[in-house]
Amino acid sequence: MFEELRARTVLVTGGGSGIGAGIVDAFLEQGAQVISADLSFSEEVLTPAREREWRVRLDVSDADAVARVVTEATDVVGVIDTVVTAAGTSTMDFAIDTDPSDWDRNLDVNAKGSFLVAQAVARILVERGLPGRVVFISSQAGKNGYRGMTAYVASKHAVLGVTKSMAVELAPRGITVNAICPGIIETPMKHRERIQGGVLRGMTAEEIAAEDRSQVPLGRTGTVEDVAGVALFLASDLASYMTGQGINVTGGMTMH
Ligand code: NAD
Repeated sequence: MFEELRARTVLVTGGGSGIGAGIVDAFLEQGAQVISADLSFSEEVLTPAREREWRVRLDVSDADAVARVVTEATDVVGVIDTVVTAAGTSTMDFAIDTDPSDWDRNLDVNAKGSFLVAQAVARILVERGLPGRVVFISSQAGKNGYRGMTAYVASKHAVLGVTKSMAVELAPRGITVNAICPGIIETPMKHRERIQGGVLRGMTAEEIAAEDRSQVPLGRTGTVEDVAGVALFLASDLASYMTGQGINVTGGMTMH
């Protein structure tokens, strides 16, 4: 669909599950080379997985590990010109009960981790004078408040702040920086959140799933493919005049 993506070397964090795994598949289908990095992978060094796909274990909140993986990927596969940061975590608790360690975990992985990965990739592109694409995965929780999710909501707002600042700085270098703000997407994380949210609110996970569906104007929750298609678009030539944006993929649930 997007011929230009065949020539790309793409780093996807969080590639081991849910949205990240869907994005890895989508770029492979376009013929790109993909480095999939995830905390859940056992491969300590970059290891070929499927055709044109390499996998490596990475904790995105560890700056040294991020630098090591980006350098190794550059040496083994080529300069990363497209990065999608889908690694993420969430904890659920009401604000007055939130443990500081949960605050740190959300901010470390979602905000700092996304920043560190984009920074490491952009540094090499700037050094070499090459254009590129950064696509962060924020959330509609980067634009709205939600009960039981203060730390997560703060981390996703931070991602949109990083998106805007890096977009301004990197625009003269030919690197665009955008974010996707997914709504309710059916993934293992969403499944866990419904169980934890149910405990907090005295509801079953099934009741929360039904409530989720009732809140979406398009009448269904999202799939990883719904998000992956927009990631391809933002990486493609069609999006070359877009930067600093937070694009909602929410079935109409968030409109600002
Ligand atoms: P998921 O739990 O299915 O996948 C997240 C992946 O990130 C996992 O494979 C996990 O191992 C990895 N990960 C966690 N911490 C990591 C770390 N420190 N370093 C590297 N990898 C790490 O979740 P998902 O729903 O696919 O979420 C992907 C992204 O999309 C997250 O940033 C999430 O906040 C965001 N998001 C999800 C939804 C949704 O409804 N599912 C909505 C909005 C935004």
